[in-house]
Amino acid sequence: MTRKPFYKPELLAPAGDLLRCKTAILYGADAVYIGGQKYSLRSRASNFTRDDIAEACMFAKDHGAAIHVTVNEIPHEEDFDGLQDYLKFLEQAGVKAIIAASPAIMRLCRQVAPRLEVHCSTQMSTLNLAAVQQMIAMTDCDRVVLGRECTLEEVKAITAGCSREIEVFIHGGMCVNFSGRCTLSNRMTLRDANRGGCAQSCRWHYDVLENGRQLTSEETLFTMGSKDMMAMPVLQELMKANVASLKIEGRMKTEYYVASVVSAYRHLIDEIAEAQGELSPERLNYHRREVSAAENRSTWVGNYNGIGNEESIIYRAHSNDNVNHAFLGTVLSCQDGMLELETRNPIDLKDSIEVLEPGRQNRSFVLEELQDENGNPMEKSRIPMRIVRMKVPFAAAPGALLRKETE
Ligand code: SF4
Repeated sequence: MTRKPFYKPELLAPAGDLLRCKTAILYGADAVYIGGQKYSLRSRASNFTRDDIAEACMFAKDHGAAIHVTVNEIPHEEDFDGLQDYLKFLEQAGVKAIIAASPAIMRLCRQVAPRLEVHCSTQMSTLNLAAVQQMIAMTDCDRVVLGRECTLEEVKAITAGCSREIEVFIHGGMCVNFSGRCTLSNRMTLRDANRGGCAQSCRWHYDVLENGRQLTSEETLFTMGSKDMMAMPVLQELMKANVASLKIEGRMKTEYYVASVVSAYRHLIDEIAEAQGELSPERLNYHRREVSAAENRSTWVGNYNGIGNEESIIYRAHSNDNVNHAFLGTVLSCQDGMLELETRNPIDLKDSIEVLEPGRQNRSFVLEELQDENGNPMEKSRIPMRIVRMKVPFAAAPGALLRKETE
């Protein structure tokens, strides 16, 4: 009996520069979203020049992937200067889609760069079917990115009633306020969150006073930042709901984060599709551990099981209580059983080390021999960015990433 094909959605990854863009593609992203030097939120992310965008498109094309570009600021009058020219450039460079939060920009794109797809940004806070339909009628967009405030039941209702593509977030940072509706940063730092300047004021540490009585101490400073989203527990349901694209947040995250999170979700999505949406609890648990190992902050499932309560907020001074793996470094070369590594975190003899490499399952070994770059034996390495050599039982490709458990 032939099995009915199970729809496999796009895995959409973030990248703050060319290196991270290529890493995301090599580790399994179907598409990568990036930002240019203007017109995009996340202006503090190291944004792409026009040459970078053209190179990213070429690399993506060679690997069967696609590039989306964020043009998602909420524009003032002056922000339209040069925009037509920029949209035409994106179309010519081979970008697949723009992600926009302004109906005016979406309409302009349709007129001057008709081969670009237009995706309606999460900044529009689209949370219900009527709003999705209204957005399509108003902008003729190809895809709507739902707000992170949608529950799973709302996502199902929207995809069931809408013939255009729906994109949802599955992993990464969350706004404690409604995405795109927060002016904390504007008021506290004069940096406009909707023009790429958010100072993440919700994540600062605050003293809290009630009628002059101090409720916090130096040890219990208050932060109202949200935990990060990790929607892995509902991923199977999102795929069954036929969403078109599963998106990871984090254009400011490191190469290691991009590689490990993308790789974890790539394997999980492929297995869910292979199992026709009925992955066993054992395999789901395995992938839950893999995704958790990649994360470097406390997480929750997002609003999919209901709008977040106090469990979704960090409150205390440390947001990384659940971190259980440390990134050790990037492989520079590997020859005759000796691997050369540029270090990031402490390494000790007898560490159990995991190797992440594009396109294959992770492999592990116990570290039995460690040397400095001149071949002198070492018991441990404590200085970041130094070159060390280690004996390995298998070859690893340059660019592979090493990590170890920390608890
Ligand atoms: S201050 Fe926090 S909640 Fe507000 S926009 Fe920035 S990250 Fe989001």
